[in-house]
Amino acid sequence: MAHIHSLGFPRIGAQRELKFALEAYWAGELSSVELMEKAKQMRSWMWQQQKDLDLISVGDFSLYDQVLDTSFALGNIPDRAQAGCATRNQEDFLAAYFKTARGRSVVDSACGCTQAAEMTKWFDSNYHYIVPEISAQTEFSANPNHWLESLKEFLEEGYSIERAKPVIIGPVTYLYLSKARDKFSKLDLLPNLLSAYKEILQAIAQQGVEWVQIDEPILSLELDREWRHAINLAYHQINGAGPKILLANYFCALADNLRLACDLPVQGLHIDAVNAEKEIKVVADWLPSHKVLSLGIINGRNIWRNNLDHSLSVIKPIIERREADIWLAPSCSLLHVPVDLDLEAQAVGDETDIRSVLAFAKQKLQELKILSLALSGGEESVERELLQSRKALSEWDAYQRAKKTEVRQRSQALHAGMYQRQSIFSKRRKLQQQALKLPLLPSTTIGSFPQTSDIRRLRRAFKSGQIGEAQYQQQMRSEISKCIKQQEEIGLDVLVHGEAERNDMVEYFGEQLDGFAFSRFAWVQSYGSRCVKPPIIYGDVERAKPMTVSWARFAQSCSDKPVKGMLTGPVTILNWSFVRDDQPRKTTCEQIALAIRDEVLDLEAAGIKVIQIDEAALREGLPLKRSAWENYLKWAVRNFKLSANGVDDATQIHTHMCYSEFNDIIEHIADMDADVITIENSRSGSELLQAFEDFNYPNDIGPGVYDIHSPNTPSTEAMAKLLREANKNIDVNQLWVNPDCGLKTRKAEEVWPALKNMVAATKILREEFSTQIA
Ligand code: GLN
Ligand code: ZN
Repeated sequence: MAHIHSLGFPRIGAQRELKFALEAYWAGELSSVELMEKAKQMRSWMWQQQKDLDLISVGDFSLYDQVLDTSFALGNIPDRAQAGCATRNQEDFLAAYFKTARGRSVVDSACGCTQAAEMTKWFDSNYHYIVPEISAQTEFSANPNHWLESLKEFLEEGYSIERAKPVIIGPVTYLYLSKARDKFSKLDLLPNLLSAYKEILQAIAQQGVEWVQIDEPILSLELDREWRHAINLAYHQINGAGPKILLANYFCALADNLRLACDLPVQGLHIDAVNAEKEIKVVADWLPSHKVLSLGIINGRNIWRNNLDHSLSVIKPIIERREADIWLAPSCSLLHVPVDLDLEAQAVGDETDIRSVLAFAKQKLQELKILSLALSGGEESVERELLQSRKALSEWDAYQRAKKTEVRQRSQALHAGMYQRQSIFSKRRKLQQQALKLPLLPSTTIGSFPQTSDIRRLRRAFKSGQIGEAQYQQQMRSEISKCIKQQEEIGLDVLVHGEAERNDMVEYFGEQLDGFAFSRFAWVQSYGSRCVKPPIIYGDVERAKPMTVSWARFAQSCSDKPVKGMLTGPVTILNWSFVRDDQPRKTTCEQIALAIRDEVLDLEAAGIKVIQIDEAALREGLPLKRSAWENYLKWAVRNFKLSANGVDDATQIHTHMCYSEFNDIIEHIADMDADVITIENSRSGSELLQAFEDFNYPNDIGPGVYDIHSPNTPSTEAMAKLLREANKNIDVNQLWVNPDCGLKTRKAEEVWPALKNMVAATKILREEFSTQIA
């Protein structure tokens, strides 16, 4: 017998219902009572989706974020969010909750605005959580209502209490992910935290719940002794306080934590059987035989159909080996995949319809059901389903194999020379200077300019066929020339065309490359009400024809100043897509790199002298295990170089990255050998640039001086100050002046005054520095 369960379900809704309810509430169009009613409907819907499972997750619904919910359940609420709110009634609770999450609750909140808590990526996923804040003084106090109220509803809906499996983020993971406001050892708070957890578990047990799922995904990380010890201690303390514990790890192998996890005093262990298939047997042998082993056999991070035959061949020997039940589940919460493939009524993919090999959350639970039936009633009992799955996969395999793409041959013919520029940077710099004649402290922007409603309307009209190619071209060109004129007027040195024709920096390229498919409704929650719809890379990636060249050529024809060609890099395109899993990611990345390389060379041939290749998401691909970083960074950087380094010495390559953590990867950044790197810096303090100084970073750097994440207009003086500070770490001859990131999300009336000030600051500093130099 194999029980089936899931670690969590997408709560945003198949049609993003929760998103729209939240946004209406924030806009003051929905009352708190209506919002709570919607939340209740969503929970009911989530359980309905899981109705065929033996155990149904409860408490994984969240109005914004499950880590934030945990903070509230532990009484760990920032003071600033509580100011003015008594947190007695619903209204006050929501105010404090949304103020922590987003800095304000509703448009005209009586409680006012405050600084939102920090948000960061949940392990290596694209989901962002609200970082808990702690200090040496933090005292936790348990409030189990989050689970109790859901359990009550669960019963009201007619489910039996034995089927409820409350989901809780584990205490050690919670502490590990918290941000300490002062200097102290986070683990000092553990005893107090564990008391709060015990109370919550007791309260849940009183409802008659048999199992809880406690997530400790930090078991996927390489932990030091202290933290491993903390995990051991924590479960010795809380075991027995409440229901039986299913301890869940996911996203990666347990590796060095395997024995620790197997030996913990809990009643069951869930492992990621997709990402750590090699570990299953060892865990099955090591985990005491009376404990439940839950195998996360369906990939919760990707959208491909499960190979059911393979899964059965993995599960069966494990069942034979063990005395206690085997449970089956997706590898992790299904939060990370879209909801329902059935909504895609039209073909997904241009050249071929790939729906037969896809599975979203709902389909993944169906696969689970088929596996469990095959195990309990024999494969004959689900013969039809197994056949169908086998047929889809073998047809897919045949299709992939029959396809002869050129890129496969090109991959065979790669050689060392394709990864290196012709000359070293110092020589290139001279040639580029001759070609570009830039002043000291060249000023530029990162690429996009505000996407006005006119621009968006234009793109929509073209896409829907309301206007033809010629009219679209003409109107877009007029937007581009307007944008260039304005940049010239305020005196920027290296211009951009503004990216008006692009909806999204990855989608724009994906839509033009072979091997990409786009869904219509495959939304995945990124944070709060924000969702993304990642492209699906299903086949070999190739470029059928130039993608940006005619826009770039036109843009350059509007000015005597250099206009940057603007591309998204291969690593970023990879990291922001759902990627085929039948070949290594680095192979797919290499194919994208070759396509971008062709584009780079075409831009160069069209007379573009400066080309920027954005690698906004390079860091996002870093593996969870530190020891695996080196390997990833090596192939990632290699593929960036493959895309960039075919150009002549006189062509200037820029890259841009949206973050400010470079200390631990600086040698790889240097290895990219871009002539200029522009980075986010305006909020970073001197630490970031110190890394560049300590490393003796040789090429040019543009540390952002304009914080584009804020609607504020930075003053000339503030930006001049940042430049003076940057110059403490970086030689004036290496320095560029630019904003932190693209300006797409800002309003025109914010952007132009800010850029004017930026140019003014540049001029002041040029004077100051040239007297220094003289
Ligand atoms: N060139 C892109 C833009 O300006 C870069 C965006 C990004 O780094 N996220 O919009
Ligand atoms: Zn950026």
